[in-house]
Amino acid sequence: MLISDRMLLKVIVLGDSGVGKTSLMNQYVYTRFNKQYKATIGADFVTKELHIDDKPVTLQQIWDTAGQERFHSLGVAFYRGADCCVLVYDVNIQKTFETLQTWHEEFLKQADPSEPERFPFVLLGNKVDINGGTSRAVSEKTAREWCALKGNIPYFETSAKENYNVEEAFLCVAKTALANE
Ligand code: GDP
Ligand code: MG
Repeated sequence: MLISDRMLLKVIVLGDSGVGKTSLMNQYVYTRFNKQYKATIGADFVTKELHIDDKPVTLQQIWDTAGQERFHSLGVAFYRGADCCVLVYDVNIQKTFETLQTWHEEFLKQADPSEPERFPFVLLGNKVDINGGTSRAVSEKTAREWCALKGNIPYFETSAKENYNVEEAFLCVAKTALANE
């Protein structure tokens, strides 16, 4: 969507409960990390303004779920009009990687984009800080292979806690979303 000369991009963040979606969003938007978040009712969104190639861009709606992801009951309004879908898993928990497939399918089914093969996704493997990476359950190679299968989804390894790669990842999200406008 274009309002005056500023692009407004709707980004939604999906992944299993506990992988760090809210933490990543907070780190990116407010540069802060809290150990605990209160679950709110409904979906929350925050705004981030940035420039890409001197063009003002607003990541107007970084939609985060308020725990409903547990029930896969987000509803079509949550997905509608998304310009990019960020998928998040926890590199220390295998199951959160396996569920990515479901999130990917669910997104495409609900958002129903005109060209599903070309719709921009970005994958984040979060919590790489834990135990200095020694408790990893999913290797970077495995994650990159999945991304390749899904049409070369960009991949970032992140830590919301240590603010590692978060800015870089969301910059890629903004660029990917913009390219899809
Ligand atoms: P969400 O359910 O996907 O939104 O996950 P949250 O953002 O609520 O995070 C779940 C828990 O993981 C919280 O206790 C966070 O403090 C913690 N957490 C999130 N990201 C990281 C990270 O990068 N590293 C570590 N060590 N903990 C994290
Ligand atoms: Mg959350």
